[in-house]
Order: sequence, then structure tokens, then C-alpha cells
Amino acid sequence: MRVHGRAGEPCPVCGEMVREVSLASRSFQYCPGCQTGGRVYADRRMSRLLR
Ligand SMILES: [Zn+2]
Repeated sequence: MRVHGRAGEPCPVCGEMVREVSLASRSFQYCPGCQTGGRVYADRRMSRLLR
């Protein structure tokens, strides 16, 4: 995966900011531009902080 470890940096392919999301016990980086079709996953770590 090209965006692995690049959270917060622009995607080398489309220029979108790479996001990091935590699912269960692991986290991964993805590009909302070319990997999820513009969808942004909810970050459980963030929602936990908000509560
Ligand atoms: Zn991209």
C-alpha cells in the first residue's frame, strides 16, 4: 500500500490527505481520494476522545 505510514501527508497519487483510522486493535492509513472513493472512515480513537 503506497500510503502506509504517511498519515497527514498528501497522497502521492491524487494529493488527498492520507488519513489514519483505528479499527479494533490495529490502525491503518488510507487515502480517501483513491482508496475509498471519497469516503472517510470514522476514527474510533477520535470518537472515544470526544465522549
Ligand atoms: Zn490518493
